Amino acid sequence: MAAGSAIQIPSRLPLLLTHEGVLLPGSTMRTSVDSPRNMQLVRSRLLKGTSLRSTIIGVIPNTSDPTSDCDELPSLHRIGTAALAVQVVGSNWPKPHYTLLVTGLCRFQILQLLKEKPYPVAEVEQLDRLEQFTNQLKSEEELGELSEQFYKYAVQLVEMLDMSVPAVAKLRRLLDNLPREALPDILTSIIRTSNQEKLQILDAVRLEERFKMTIPLLVRQIEGLKLLQKTRKPKQDDDKRIVAIRPNRRINHIPSTAEDEEEEEDHDDVVMLEKKIRTSSMSEQALKVCLKEIKRLKKMPQSMPEYALTRNYLELMVELPWNKSTKDRLEIRAARILLDNDHYAMEKLKKRVLEYLAVRQLKNNLKGPILCFVGPPGVGKTSVGRSIAKTLGREFHRIALGGVCDQSDIRGHRRTYVGSMPGRIINGLKTVGVNNPVFLLDEVDKLGKSLQGDPAAALLEVLDPEQNHSFTDHYLNVAFDLSQVLFIATANTTATIPPALLDRMEIIQVPGYTQEEKIEIAHRHLIPKQLEQHGLTPQQIQIPQVTTLDIITRYTREAGVRSLDRKLGAICRAVAVKVAEGQHKETKPDRAEVGEGEDCKEHVTEDAKPESITDTADLALPPEMPILIDFHALKDILGPPMYETEVSERLSQPGVAIGLAWTPLGGEIMFVEASRMDGEGQLTLTGQLGDVMKESAHLAISWLRSNAKRYQLTNASGSFDLLDNTDIHLHFPAGAVTKDGPSAGVTIVTCLASLFSGRLVCSDVAMTGEITLRGLVLPVGGIKDKVLAAHRAGLKRIIIPRRNEKDLEEIAVNVRQDLTFVMASCLDEVLNAAFDGGFAVKPRVEHLNSKL
Ligand code: ADP
Repeated sequence: MAAGSAIQIPSRLPLLLTHEGVLLPGSTMRTSVDSPRNMQLVRSRLLKGTSLRSTIIGVIPNTSDPTSDCDELPSLHRIGTAALAVQVVGSNWPKPHYTLLVTGLCRFQILQLLKEKPYPVAEVEQLDRLEQFTNQLKSEEELGELSEQFYKYAVQLVEMLDMSVPAVAKLRRLLDNLPREALPDILTSIIRTSNQEKLQILDAVRLEERFKMTIPLLVRQIEGLKLLQKTRKPKQDDDKRIVAIRPNRRINHIPSTAEDEEEEEDHDDVVMLEKKIRTSSMSEQALKVCLKEIKRLKKMPQSMPEYALTRNYLELMVELPWNKSTKDRLEIRAARILLDNDHYAMEKLKKRVLEYLAVRQLKNNLKGPILCFVGPPGVGKTSVGRSIAKTLGREFHRIALGGVCDQSDIRGHRRTYVGSMPGRIINGLKTVGVNNPVFLLDEVDKLGKSLQGDPAAALLEVLDPEQNHSFTDHYLNVAFDLSQVLFIATANTTATIPPALLDRMEIIQVPGYTQEEKIEIAHRHLIPKQLEQHGLTPQQIQIPQVTTLDIITRYTREAGVRSLDRKLGAICRAVAVKVAEGQHKETKPDRAEVGEGEDCKEHVTEDAKPESITDTADLALPPEMPILIDFHALKDILGPPMYETEVSERLSQPGVAIGLAWTPLGGEIMFVEASRMDGEGQLTLTGQLGDVMKESAHLAISWLRSNAKRYQLTNASGSFDLLDNTDIHLHFPAGAVTKDGPSAGVTIVTCLASLFSGRLVCSDVAMTGEITLRGLVLPVGGIKDKVLAAHRAGLKRIIIPRRNEKDLEEIAVNVRQDLTFVMASCLDEVLNAAFDGGFAVKPRVEHLNSKL
């Protein structure tokens, strides 16, 4: 390219027309090319050309290439930049185009356009001298003060930038090494300038003019930066402690004050964080750790992964409520009213909660057992927890422990792990923002265990009042005082709560509800809540008590009220649709509204038209009276009933008896079925039974065999040896559910006695009790739930062990009135009560007193 002393660009240049961005000499620009002429230029000149010369093109700014090559070429900007195409990248998506990387060489002026197609070519005159870029000749005498002034501003500007960024350091060096004439162009393309300003610089052909135009731009940028730094700098007098630290740092680590200034700006956020740490009320130990960490953070480059980790840690430390608490406002009388208002029934639980709160108030500390509500789902355990928080005026937070099997879920991960985070307790505290919330540890009975440690052990530390004032989360690694937190636990059963944990808790049983209680709960609490949630009013929907009873008995079978609540929700949804449809139609009152008489949901108006009876859409017209939910409506909305009273049907043949079982979900009635067939005396048991239950079955068979003569029990061939040539199959339906426990003993005996005697067991009797080989009936647990289940199922007589008589006191009077209880201490009494007319014992018939 060098020709003689002066380096010359070709006198004929192909022109690339650009519209966005202005390329200045000495700078580089990426530009996208997709118009026909420009594409042609790239294809035939840049991609096909082989010489260096062919890569030099003229870039004309401010001129867009026409979208079609048939269109006239617009008037071209007079001055352009000769450029070297450094890179061409082609792509077909979203449409064919090239991306060019071009470096500006010098200005040129178009003398004459030589051709327009396939791409424009012009005869040009070079305006800048190219050779100045290659020698170090300084021409201060030519430019004098102007150039000196420009240089100073440029240096000032560059030094305001972050020198630790390599590009900035390089720029600083370039300022000294480049010829001053090149600087205006280069700096204009670096600093924030508009295209219009760049265009003016390009058009400024005289160097002096260029300097003059660029200096104001530099000054503007410097002022802007200054302003920015001022707003980001914290006010020094805000916190004297920060001022105290900074000089130290300067002296100790970085002697150069100029460099220190810059680093300070860099660490602006860190300084803010440090300030927050110092003003937060964290414990002394935590403050020490935080200050150490922040010191490390200051020395760490931001790009280090540990930077973010440490920062997150510090931010959490600042956010934690070390000393922030809500003020307890406990007034026992108000608490009683609130608990009564929020919850119907559950007297025992409410009484115990009030006692607990009263002691707390008197003692003014929280040491004491942790309350644990144990009961089937949906009986209001969680909602009582929430009420307690409300009575105390404390924040409430629920921690679901179901399925938690990793102790770091409770205690957090150590910070050495990638993605480490604090445990649920610390997270909960962060969420509520105070250090004395009510934490509800939901489902402690469902804690798991795994290789990652035992979460129950971690919970022990949390719950133990002797230890929890210095609970150390692995992530925090400093102690946090949990002694102000009020913990309440819930569980469905105590059987699976780890013993050590159980030991620290006071168990309060929350049994299921009777039908009457459920109806009351539904009408006092659930229905009003559902109406509100669905935007309905009592003027729009009416659910009579018989309907609620229907839902309870025929659509749900549960100890709590959760399904009932859901069903009520479904009804409200359906009604909401009708009401909304009705409101829509109200605006077009040209149609009449007629309802099916029995459906009770719709209403007849005076101008009823007969044809609308068949139009089911019209059934949804706006109700002037509440939509009454009767059984038909119920069937429409919820579908056919899911549960029917099937008891009498299933007891229509010998070998079936009804037992009562207890499950974590409440009591249940359980049909035990037995059949016999020819065989070799084997006993088959099905229905996923546990070992204890299998043993009960063997016990029952043995007792019956030894008493076969007494009760006249025979096998199919009339022999008293019941298993002679006979196999027995015992089945406990709902085969998918695992069952265990000794309480089915009496039921199995009754069922087999029915099978071998060929007599039917009374269809309205249910029973529970453990048996011994001598025929005694031993007490069992869960009597209240079992009795409620029998009551729900419509049974009338219940056989329970005599030693369970005391448990009946817990049962509501109205339930007790509906049922007859038979207390049995031996199997004779059970069998007598289970069969109509008693179960005759042959030799001693006269000595027996029937309990019926
Ligand atoms: P759990 O925690 O025992 O599984 P929840 O506390 O979630 O049950 O209760 C389910 C729903 O039933 C809640 O909406 C609650 O308000 C309601 N509920 C349960 N028992 C009662 C009651 N005795 N009085 C009023 N509402 C109740």
